[in-house]
Amino acid sequence: MKQLSMWEATSNEKKQRSSLSGNKECDVVVVGGGFTGLSTAYHLQKKNIKTIVLEKGSLGSGASGRNGGQILTGFIDSMSSLAKRKGLDTARQMLQMSLDSIDLIERISKENEIACSFNRSGHLYAAYKPTHIDWLKEEQEVLERDFNYKVQVIEKKDLQAEIKSDFYHGGCIDENSAIYHPFNYVLGLAESVEKLGGTIYENSEATQIIKAPNRKVIIETPEGRVTADHLVIVTNAYSGNLHKTISRSIIPVESIMIATEQLPEELVSSLIPKDRAVYDTKHMLYYFRRTPDNRMAFGGSGRSLSGDTAPLYQKLKEGMDTVFPELKKYKAEFCWSGKVGFTREMLPYIGQLEDGTHFAFGYAGHGAAMSTLMGNLLAENILSENNGKNPFEKNDLRPIPFYSQHGKVVGLMKYYFKVKDAIS
Ligand SMILES: Cc1cc2nc3c(=O)[nH]c(=O)nc-3n(C[C@H](O)[C@H](O)[C@H](O)COP(=O)(O)OP(=O)(O)OC[C@H]3O[C@@H](n4cnc5c(N)ncnc54)[C@H](O)[C@@H]3O)c2cc1C
Repeated sequence: MKQLSMWEATSNEKKQRSSLSGNKECDVVVVGGGFTGLSTAYHLQKKNIKTIVLEKGSLGSGASGRNGGQILTGFIDSMSSLAKRKGLDTARQMLQMSLDSIDLIERISKENEIACSFNRSGHLYAAYKPTHIDWLKEEQEVLERDFNYKVQVIEKKDLQAEIKSDFYHGGCIDENSAIYHPFNYVLGLAESVEKLGGTIYENSEATQIIKAPNRKVIIETPEGRVTADHLVIVTNAYSGNLHKTISRSIIPVESIMIATEQLPEELVSSLIPKDRAVYDTKHMLYYFRRTPDNRMAFGGSGRSLSGDTAPLYQKLKEGMDTVFPELKKYKAEFCWSGKVGFTREMLPYIGQLEDGTHFAFGYAGHGAAMSTLMGNLLAENILSENNGKNPFEKNDLRPIPFYSQHGKVVGLMKYYFKVKDAIS
């Protein structure tokens, strides 16, 4: 298996971008070249706000270029649970935002002719245990009654029309979800930013924030500096020490993926005939889909404490073969991993800190959808076009308490499963 994101290996042509050197000035400096940062720059440039994006590695080298490409409705927590936690009106607003986020990606892709294979083919949330069907039905009722939102729950006997596998016991279909080639979306969004006059520097790690006179901010990189009126930090699960308040509020959780070699067209289209994004109710979930070039891209949870990742990918391949026995004889050609950002509430956060820094992060596995919308909202916040009145707005980030107390990884995983157990 090649240790490389299949999305990067199969992407459209990528142009080289230089790193920052010397002194630059702009209205807004955005740190982080993933979906959130590029979307922020895109929406600012649309209003002629001069924006510079600084990316530590190459564009999409964080989660945005290495995810499952599943643009899903909703959040990691169910809408019925969110209604209990946050109140029905707020939960309704949240659901609407998740639907808006998918529309926004579709619109941006169309308007800018981004060749990212966007396909609104819906998702299948597959039931790992027979009892999970009851829960999916209850959720379906709540969605219809309280949210006026329709999904379809199907039993095991009807599952073959959706997925050629005996592994699951039914599932829930939502026609509003979509899939895309995430790396191509990154590349297309970046080019759109540049067409609008924005500037992007790769291999340009922001290493220091300096407060400058006239309420300006200076961001230093190894070979340059940017002076700007506003600072946006959107480094999500890849946050280092640049801004401790932000990085200490994010829980990075490793997720791993494999992709098969290219499969015969008839086989791959028989496995997921409607091209759904599929994810399941298993505690350590699987998520998978067909790719535009006829592979199976299959993801799961996993982190190697020993540093030897080969057994993890092998186990994931075995998992894929259990779901789809017909794939046993095909090789996994690519394997890769990445970090998913969580918050202590398992909901995204967006806002502005007292020191003026704008941030958005923590999409908990739903960032393929929400991050583009968050970029738009960050741009609106900077332009004071909204009143910060969205349910994810936070201005008082509180650090995750165990950061200073325990070994980082073990502490994070314990916290993650504690929260996950609490909400599932
Ligand atoms: C394996 C995997 C599978 C996933 N599958 C799905 C899925 O199917 N559906 C879904 O909705 N979500 C999925 N996600 C999550 C989704 O990819 C993220 O929510 C989303 O990409 C977050 O985008 P972002 O721009 O906020 O962060 P990122 O894309 O992580 O971007 C942050 C960037 O900041 C850069 N950076 C960090 N520090 C600095 C610095 N000091 N200076 C400059 N740059 C810096 C990093 O290099 C990185 O490129 C998955 C994630 C992973 C890892």
